[in-house]
Amino acid sequence: MGGVILYGKNVADAMENELRDDAAALARRGVTPTLAIIRIGERGGDMAYERGAMKRCDLIGVNVRRFVLPPDVLESELLGVTDKINRDDEIHGCLIFRPLPKGINESRICNSLAPEKDVDGITEESLYGVFTGFGHGYPPCTAQACIEILTHYGIDIAGKKAVVIGRSLVIGKPVAMMLLGKNATVTICHSKTEDPAEQCRAADIVVVAAGRAGLADARFINPGGVVIDVGVNVDDNGHICGDVRKEDAERAKAYSPVPGGVGAVTTSVLVKHVIDAARKAQPDTPGRP
Ligand code: NAP
Repeated sequence: MGGVILYGKNVADAMENELRDDAAALARRGVTPTLAIIRIGERGGDMAYERGAMKRCDLIGVNVRRFVLPPDVLESELLGVTDKINRDDEIHGCLIFRPLPKGINESRICNSLAPEKDVDGITEESLYGVFTGFGHGYPPCTAQACIEILTHYGIDIAGKKAVVIGRSLVIGKPVAMMLLGKNATVTICHSKTEDPAEQCRAADIVVVAAGRAGLADARFINPGGVVIDVGVNVDDNGHICGDVRKEDAERAKAYSPVPGGVGAVTTSVLVKHVIDAARKAQPDTPGRP
C-alpha cells in the first residue's frame, strides 16, 4: 500500500538545469536577470521564503535586490518603491510579500507594479491573462507550481476530472483556470460546498488549497487519483503539515507531500518568470511589450 510520492525537489532540480542555461544565455548578451523583493517587517514565513528564493536565484544566476521597509511604512512610500522598480531597466521582476500592513490599500499597491514585472501574478492584468490566456504578466507562482508537478511526473490533465478545494485569487481560482486551460473538467469546492468529499472521490486530480490541516480526509481520496496538497499549516507539535494527512494521502495513486511538494517548486517557478521577463525586456526580443 502507499501512493507514489511526487517530490517537489525532483521537479525543481529538472527546472534548475534548464534555467541555468537560460540565465547563461542572457549573461552572454550582457543581461543579468534581476528580481526585486519588497518585504515589510520581519515575519518568519516571509524571511524563510526570501532565503529560499535568494538561494535558488544564486544557484541559477539571477540577481536579487531587496527593498526592506518598516511595518509602519506609508502607502505613498510603497508606491514610491514600486515606481522606482518599474522605471529601473535592470530589474525584470518583483515579488511583494503580503498581506501588507493594515491601512495600506493592497490592491492599489499590487496594481502599481508594471504587469511585465509582475512575476507572481498579483496585478489585475496578470490575472486577466490567467483567465483569458492573453495579456502580460505571469500566473501566481504557487498555482503554476502545481501544474509543473503534474507535468513533470507525466500526469495527464486533458479530459480528466479535476477538483480544486479553495477559491482564493492566489491559488484556488488561478490553478482551476490553468487546469481548465489544459482541458481538464474542473470543479471548484469552497467552504459552502455541500459534499466536497463526494466531488474529490470522483476526481482524477485533486488540488487541496484550503489551509485547514486534515481537511481532506480518507473520504476525499480516490485510490486511482492524484492529490496535490498546497496547504501549509502548523500541527499541534509545531511541525509544518498540509491539508491532507500522510496516512490519507497515501491512499491515492500519487500525492505531493507537505513539506517537500509544491513549496519546493514555487521558488523555481519564480526564477523561471524572472528569466522570462528579462528575455522579453530585451530590445531584440520579438513581441516585446
Ligand atoms: P485563503 O485565502 O484562506 O483561501 C482558503 C480557501 O479554502 C477559501 O476559498 C475557503 O473557502 C476554502 N476553504 C476553507 N475551509 C474549507 C472547507 N472546510 N471546505 C472547503 N473549502 C474550504 O488561503 P490561500 O491563500 O488560498 O492559501 C491556501 C493554503 O495554501 C494555505 O494553507 C496557504 O498557507 C497555502 N499556501 C501555500 C503556498 C506554497 O508555496 N506551498 C503558497 C501560498 C499559500 P471560502 O472562499 O468559502 O472561504
